[in-house]
Amino acid sequence: MSALRWLRKRLPLGATWTDARMMRRALRLARSAAASGEVPVGAVVYKDGVVLGEAANDREASADPTGHAEVVAIRRAGERLGSWRLDGCTIAVTLEPCAMCAGALVNSRMARVVYGADDPKAGACRSLFAIPEDRRLNHRLKVVRHVLRVECAATLRSFFRRRRAERSALGTQGDRVIVGTQRRSVATLTSPPRIVCFDLGGVLVRICRDWSQGMAAAGLKPKRFASGASADAARLTLLEQYQRGALTVSDFCSSFAVTLGSNWSGADVLCVHRAWIMGEYPGVDRLVDDLQRSGVRTACLSNTNDEHWRYMERSLPTVAGLHLRLASHQLRLHKPDRGIYEAFESISGCQSGEILFFDDLEANVAAARSLGWDAHRVDPQSDTAAFMRAHAVRRRALAEVRHG
Ligand SMILES: [Zn+2]
Repeated sequence: MSALRWLRKRLPLGATWTDARMMRRALRLARSAAASGEVPVGAVVYKDGVVLGEAANDREASADPTGHAEVVAIRRAGERLGSWRLDGCTIAVTLEPCAMCAGALVNSRMARVVYGADDPKAGACRSLFAIPEDRRLNHRLKVVRHVLRVECAATLRSFFRRRRAERSALGTQGDRVIVGTQRRSVATLTSPPRIVCFDLGGVLVRICRDWSQGMAAAGLKPKRFASGASADAARLTLLEQYQRGALTVSDFCSSFAVTLGSNWSGADVLCVHRAWIMGEYPGVDRLVDDLQRSGVRTACLSNTNDEHWRYMERSLPTVAGLHLRLASHQLRLHKPDRGIYEAFESISGCQSGEILFFDDLEANVAAARSLGWDAHRVDPQSDTAAFMRAHAVRRRALAEVRHG
């Protein structure tokens, strides 16, 4: 059966492609909520294919009894539209809304509610009550059930299964362990990651930190190059395009030379570009080796171009030995785009809470965290291997701290 026919067969009556797309988005929100210990429910409010508000259940984090995904999402949509009336809007939610949320949907004058899994214990769209379609109310919504039902139900089931296992393993009744002032989910603290993912430059691989250092590494005599915000921005854009796989190495080098000044040629840039990678950080080979021996998968997710990538795979044994290697130019996505992290999850088959991630850029770390990854910023000037080893020990990916 073709993928298209398969998908169409799975689309319930009354559901559109947009509904399915939005439900997928809601599912991603739900899964990232699960990683931070929230019951995984996600909701997206949209109109004409445009997202107006979205949220995951955040009752634990906000300590708000009304913090259901639907309530938070419609509140955001109202703010965005500058109106409490969400006329013509649809909400996609992974679980059948409860009485509170169904009531809120009626009060928002929303046109449709599309949900994934039934909730036989609290559902108020069909299971216990049918609030959106109740003729006694002054507004009614169209209800579409079971869009991506299997995925939505599986996400909830696996969350509750894991939580039961963790509770019995801990012998505790509580949801949470309090660490300092920061509340962390049990999953983050107690279960070892299935995969440890590294950025390359500045984390496993030492690279030149600036253009002057690159010139020195290439053995070029120091020469002047244009500086300032606009030149920097132009270079950053070129670099990003190259790392997204949108430029060839020669186009990249010749355009980059233009931003440096008329005293630069594409060949000069190529020379520096090739000298950019300085080798592995000491100790990272042992760290990766120890992780692999402990049964943890290792991976990298790198913003890089094809040329550096080939060089690293060929010349750096630690990089070549990682179980999974993914780079921006292959995926045509770039950190900190949300999509590249989602691509990593689907290719690795790991959920956000199962990933321990290291990167040297704060923006990349923040994006990973927003998806529920256990992400940490590595300082390239410090002992990167020791830093990452300590976090691997904390997550029980490694049994003990061993330096050297
Ligand atoms: Zn609710």
